[in-house]
Amino acid sequence: MSKYAKRDTLLPYGKQLLDEADIEAVVQVLKGDFITQGPAIQAFERKVADHVGARYGVAFSNGTAALHGACFAAGITDGDEVVTTPLTFLASSNCVLYQGGTPVFADIDPLTYNIDPRQVEKKLTPRTKAIIPVDFSGQPAEMDRIQEIARLHNLIVIEDAAHSLGAEYQGRKVGTWADMTMFSFHPVKHITTGEGGMIVTDDEAFYRKLLLFRSHGMTREPQELTRNDGPWYYEMQELGYNYRMTDIQAALGVSQMDKLDGFVARRRELAGIYNRGLAEIEGLILPEQHVDANSSWHLYVVRFLPEHFQYSRKEIFEQLRGLNIGVNVHYIPVHLQPYYQRLGYLKGSCPNAEQYYETCITLPLFPGMTDEDCEYVIQAVRNLGSLD
Ligand SMILES: *Cc1c(COP(=O)(O)O)cnc(C)c1O
Repeated sequence: MSKYAKRDTLLPYGKQLLDEADIEAVVQVLKGDFITQGPAIQAFERKVADHVGARYGVAFSNGTAALHGACFAAGITDGDEVVTTPLTFLASSNCVLYQGGTPVFADIDPLTYNIDPRQVEKKLTPRTKAIIPVDFSGQPAEMDRIQEIARLHNLIVIEDAAHSLGAEYQGRKVGTWADMTMFSFHPVKHITTGEGGMIVTDDEAFYRKLLLFRSHGMTREPQELTRNDGPWYYEMQELGYNYRMTDIQAALGVSQMDKLDGFVARRRELAGIYNRGLAEIEGLILPEQHVDANSSWHLYVVRFLPEHFQYSRKEIFEQLRGLNIGVNVHYIPVHLQPYYQRLGYLKGSCPNAEQYYETCITLPLFPGMTDEDCEYVIQAVRNLGSLD
């Protein structure tokens, strides 16, 4: 690597892209009457729901809160089992624990890294209530097969689409495949509101429950009240939380949505540059795409097969970090976390996810990245010292 000049700033693995219109949208809210519980929330919900083709959107303070809301709306409670993937961020299974349910991990497909529908089937019991597939790295899970399993066994599907806003499966946008679909607007995701999340759904009953849950389980809707003491009257009908998004965040979200298609197109372009630049390196596994999936490329993950490299994955990671490349690892399988180990989950129970974890590295990918940034990473990887 010594023959390549080291860049002097860190290239992060992901980063938001904000412009003057975004800043102006936030300023307008700050100058207005409502900075929370105002009209920007519904405008944002409408815009995201319309974009993905769903009837309803319910914004939350973050994606984790949105997943919690979806588990509540699905009726997950003590003793219920929910099948999900171990290769995800903690929130995908923590949301089940919040409701007193039990996450059950089904192993991944070793090619796409998404939950394997055959493994899902093997994990079903009479207590199974729902499935939470995760569209890992932006590539939709096999939603047709997962829906088929769910219909057959009367299960609810909550799609964790934190990685896949703008992605398609069989030509249809992520957002209407599942009973409820969650998007996150954390700054590394496709669009950002700082912190933020949303559930989209076509089901009015889920929609009503999500609204209640987001705001203390409270309603003022006249048709929902059990009695009416007067114009001041509100009722708490469920135990909810304060999981509301602010209008400041929602206004940023509305403005960011104008750029979503461009962001996704740029991510796909950069993934293409990586695919070409990193092709045919012995022992380097590039991201495999299912024929029905059109990824929105949240992450670009490569795997280094140890027998082909003179350095370990850890050494490779450190070398790339040393070159100011903000590589990362997505993810440590959830069932291996100390908290989950204490709950009794076993190492060895999801061998594909565990093997994947030993060899994976996430390369930088975000819409503000230049072609030169991408080439810099490619050169660094190409010069790692393959034994072949
Ligand atoms: C980001 C993320 C979440 C949670 O979203 P937050 O908005 O950070 O709470 C959930 N699942 C996955 C797979 C994520 O990447």
